[in-house]
Amino acid sequence: MKCDPCDLLVAVACIALALLAATIVTAQDPAAGKRFRMVAEQIAARGVRNPDVLRAMRATPRHLFVPAASRGLAYEDYPLPLGYGATISQPYIVALMTEAVAPAGTHRILEIGTGSGYQAAVLAQLAARVYTIEIVPELAQSAAGTLRELGYTNVEVRQGDGARGWPEQAPFDGIVVTAAPLEVPDSLIAQLARGGRLVAPVGHLGNQDLVLIRKQADGRVERRSLGGVNFVPMRQK
Ligand code: SAH
Repeated sequence: MKCDPCDLLVAVACIALALLAATIVTAQDPAAGKRFRMVAEQIAARGVRNPDVLRAMRATPRHLFVPAASRGLAYEDYPLPLGYGATISQPYIVALMTEAVAPAGTHRILEIGTGSGYQAAVLAQLAARVYTIEIVPELAQSAAGTLRELGYTNVEVRQGDGARGWPEQAPFDGIVVTAAPLEVPDSLIAQLARGGRLVAPVGHLGNQDLVLIRKQADGRVERRSLGGVNFVPMRQK
């Protein structure tokens, strides 16, 4: 094969441009490198394939959702405590649940258990609108503040008991439950649109299953397990 000097020049110019772009991104956002590595090693490597989900995980500044004292650990492969008995889930689990609920551009998504607001921020980049409910007033308030400061204008945070859902805004195309009930509340299944998907950890602490529920076009409900997980229990009012 003949090597055209013109092609070589174009290739060198492309590499230089890519390096320049990477330098600019890293300079503006020093955590970007850690985030790219997190997505490659913890998420894509474990089988999350949806490119939109991977893009949203690369774009969301997880370190700004965790308490200042654990900022240096924000991109590690485990959950972190948020105080008030809450934890921000392991990055892989956030990606897995996001892929399972399959948010799309026109979708309205409900989240139960706002915590830090991180999962809501990831969903907000993939759906039209996110409604999220948190039972601890302090967490609801601080997550709403973080989301506002970071410019996520399509997320609405409400303080209250998520087991009842958000009937005024139902039906939802997707529901993501991030605190574990012993069984998925009927009110949440009722607020799922036909064709919608709900993902929830279900069961006792130490023995929970991540359950995916799909509501068919005819209203029938189909359920399957995505494997074992460990979430904080859903509080009962
Ligand atoms: N999705 C969060 C992590 C959630 S941890 C994030 O991305 O950071 C689980 C959260 O569910 C905790 O904040 C806990 O306070 C909340 N929670 C527990 N029971 C609840 C209930 N009945 N209604 C709403 N929120 C609840």
